[in-house]
Amino acid sequence: MIVHTPDTPAELSAIIQAARGDQQRLAVAGSGSRPGFAPAAADACISLAGLGGSIQHDPAELMLTAPAATPMAAIRPLLAGAGQCLAFEPPDPDALWGRGGGTLGGAVACGLSGPRRPFAGAARDHVLEVEGITGAGEAFRAGGRVLKNVTGFDLPRLLTGSRGSLAVLTSLTVRLAPLPPASATWALPADDAPRALRLMADALMVDGGITGAAWADGQVLLRIEATAAALPALMAALAARLPGGQWCDGPASVARWAALAGLADVPADRLIWRCPLPAAAVPALAALLPAGAELRLDWGGALAWLILPAALADWDAPAAVAQAAGREGHARRLRLPAGVASAVPAHSPADPAVAALSRRIKALMDPDGVLAAEVEG
Ligand SMILES: Cc1cc2nc3c(=O)[nH]c(=O)nc-3n(C[C@H](O)[C@H](O)[C@H](O)COP(=O)(O)OP(=O)(O)OC[C@H]3O[C@@H](n4cnc5c(N)ncnc54)[C@H](O)[C@@H]3O)c2cc1C
Repeated sequence: MIVHTPDTPAELSAIIQAARGDQQRLAVAGSGSRPGFAPAAADACISLAGLGGSIQHDPAELMLTAPAATPMAAIRPLLAGAGQCLAFEPPDPDALWGRGGGTLGGAVACGLSGPRRPFAGAARDHVLEVEGITGAGEAFRAGGRVLKNVTGFDLPRLLTGSRGSLAVLTSLTVRLAPLPPASATWALPADDAPRALRLMADALMVDGGITGAAWADGQVLLRIEATAAALPALMAALAARLPGGQWCDGPASVARWAALAGLADVPADRLIWRCPLPAAAVPALAALLPAGAELRLDWGGALAWLILPAALADWDAPAAVAQAAGREGHARRLRLPAGVASAVPAHSPADPAVAALSRRIKALMDPDGVLAAEVEG
């Protein structure tokens, strides 16, 4: 496949304009850390690796502006060195596919939000400004380097999670947060999903500094992040309210959540489905799971991970999620192990109204359908 490597936004715009003229379809690649993007649907690929530029980190303003192609592996230590982080906690995809940690543009284009999402907001809530080229080949800048930039359509939010289907992001400004000074995790035994949901709901009933609530391997994990001075009292209050657990704190707690978020311990021969849904629908989903399927929860129960052996590759996760949660649930297959085939669609069908709206927005941003990314529906 032809790979275009533009060095400037103007060159990128020219490539898109030419593709429009030639009725070609282009796939946008950040660093390709997420296989399974359907290059087959494209005539050529655009690699953004050449669209470099400097990183502008403004610690005092809690802001970072960087080329979209900037590797997350460069951004994470830079921020940590200044005691800061991306509050939406994008997980590291390297453990899932072994293809590196991805780029800032890829994390934003995929709307990648980790365990702290229910407490700190999603990726789209932290993108302040975007620059890029639309599928029509037009350069744009939207949003601004100030928090209250509400002029015009909120394109930063629209483009977050659009997976290269509407525009190619070339530069991003994201809001940062102070790195939590101290962290501790309370691990409570929970053999089934209903008990896990009750424990997480109880824990979240009061504002006890909790910034992570997950269930995996028969344990509910509740993360507290706070100042070192405030942490002991918050830990004592949580342990008193939900006794019978074990603490891990400091670097061990941080490492536990990084592994959990990146699904680092899931064997490579497992299928992985990512299923946001109302927590109240989880017991119904759990009841539909076939033997051999593993269920994990994050976001206090509002995000379910289904981990399946290859023998269950044809088990219809989208149908099960629809049965349990109706249109409020969504299933996306994040990983199909190499050599495993499946007749099940890779994601739930979109709500017809959402699909119609998505097509109208696509027609506005990419009138000739040059950008070959899937538009759900
Ligand atoms: C726990 C976990 C959960 C995940 N959940 C999701 C999920 O829900 N949905 C999902 O899609 N991925 C998900 N991922 C995958 C993850 O988002 C990607 O691996 C990573 O962020 C992609 O970065 P990349 O730079 O390698 O982009 P690529 O893998 O190269 O591209 C990924 C997608 O982003 C688009 N893209 C990349 N850069 C740009 C850009 N500059 N402008 C416009 N579009 C661009 C591409 O067209 C493609 O559609 C998850 C990964 C993990 C570990």
